[in-house]
Amino acid sequence: MQYKRILLKLSGEALMGERQYGIDPKRLAEYATDIKEIVDKGVEVAIVIGGGNIFRGVAGASNGMDRVQGDHMGMLATVINGLALQSALENTGVQTRLQSAIKINEVAEPFIRRRAIRHLEKGRVVIFGGGTGNPYFTTDSAAVLRAIEIEANVILKGTRVDGIYTSDPEKDKSATKFDFITFDDVLKKGLKVMDTTAFTLSQENELPIIVFDMNKKGNLYKVVSGENVGTKVNL
Ligand code: UDP
Repeated sequence: MQYKRILLKLSGEALMGERQYGIDPKRLAEYATDIKEIVDKGVEVAIVIGGGNIFRGVAGASNGMDRVQGDHMGMLATVINGLALQSALENTGVQTRLQSAIKINEVAEPFIRRRAIRHLEKGRVVIFGGGTGNPYFTTDSAAVLRAIEIEANVILKGTRVDGIYTSDPEKDKSATKFDFITFDDVLKKGLKVMDTTAFTLSQENELPIIVFDMNKKGNLYKVVSGENVGTKVNL
């Protein structure tokens, strides 16, 4: 395996599968199987999960809700997704711990960096819920932050598209995919990989990002074993 310790970022929307809202149990089970495959190879896996399938703070704000209140709902949504993913992983026999950035002690451990690292060393998958614990941030920022804190080798951003394209491949048929791209080129070309806060944090800390299609069975294994899948953003 190419990477010893990874941070996998899954969006909340990815968990919807074919649905319009919430969690598709079939999709969740597929993700769990894919993750188990790399855990069995000895890869240390931490996961940050989004909440967009349940609630987004900006959506609340656009309906007249206080933004911070909405973001609190969004953070709780990520804890719900974390619990669902934990359950699916444990059904496959993988040991897990859920750590939350907001205190919710009856449900999840608090985020404690040293403890998270210890869990990883013992082969447990650590799921980070609650984002960064602060409003006005995204779970992409949480993913980069946690990846740096636990000294992950790479961030794997699992999405519905198989990498970064010159333009939106769903709109532009002539769009071509990058196998590799630098942080600087992503910024220069105005490409969208993560929100700017998250992206800059990754760049400043020299943490590579791989964007890949998580919905294709076996792709996660390929990425972690160093196959040229998706797009790698590097210095
Ligand atoms: N959120 C937040 N702080 C964080 C991470 C998330 O307030 O550090 C809230 C925010 O309202 C966001 C929601 O949680 O809209 C869900 O996260 P995100 O939109 O990143 O989920 P994804 O797009 O990955 O499903």
